[in-house]
Amino acid sequence: MGLELTRARLLEYLSREISDKRVLQAMARVPRELFVLPDCYHSAYEDIPLSIGFGQTISQPFIVALMTQALKLRGDEKVLEVGTGSGYQTAILAELARCVVSVERVPQLAESAKTVLERLGYTNIQIHLAGKTLGWPSEAPYNAILVTAGSPRVPDGLLKQLAFGGRLVVPVGSRWEQELYRITKRKSGNSVDRLGGCRFVPLIGEEAWEE
Ligand code: SAH
Repeated sequence: MGLELTRARLLEYLSREISDKRVLQAMARVPRELFVLPDCYHSAYEDIPLSIGFGQTISQPFIVALMTQALKLRGDEKVLEVGTGSGYQTAILAELARCVVSVERVPQLAESAKTVLERLGYTNIQIHLAGKTLGWPSEAPYNAILVTAGSPRVPDGLLKQLAFGGRLVVPVGSRWEQELYRITKRKSGNSVDRLGGCRFVPLIGEEAWEE
């Protein structure tokens, strides 16, 4: 099957599972084939994660859409993404928010994501090489934070970088499987929604897993 057909099939599937029309429009606009390795080009619109090298993966499209929808973006937000990877999720966020700060710990992935996102013309994205502290505190607070790697717990350091009223979406669980959590930060106390099972590569760092 050609790329156009698998793309149409994927978008049709997503339109049945995802209710946020803006998220569906963003998924229709961003060319996922530009974010995968040449070997995977023909699988770009299969609803599966694909290897991007360095032991990392580009997330499954359905999970990208689900996590993005969970952030409830309206267009004026400053968003932090932890785990740039291919940059695909970064592009989806940039379509839906005012600006995106994304951090990645593998230098080669940060570089190639930067290249493809520039080529696509995005001007509202900053990509940084991850430091010792999880996230990117110097640009905080963020209205929404998305973690695209699995964490053993909800990282306190990221909650600190979240604005009041903001949403943090993070996969929490073991090294192999997690559940998607959405934490909404409020002065009166945070609330947690559980959004279902998922499988991510481990989040590495002081507040997360050892390398
Ligand atoms: N959103 C990406 C997912 C990539 S996989 C995509 O769809 O392509 C998760 C990424 O998180 C990996 O590239 C990994 O290197 C990165 N990562 C893991 N721990 C991190 C940390 N503490 N800070 C920044 N990035 C991290």
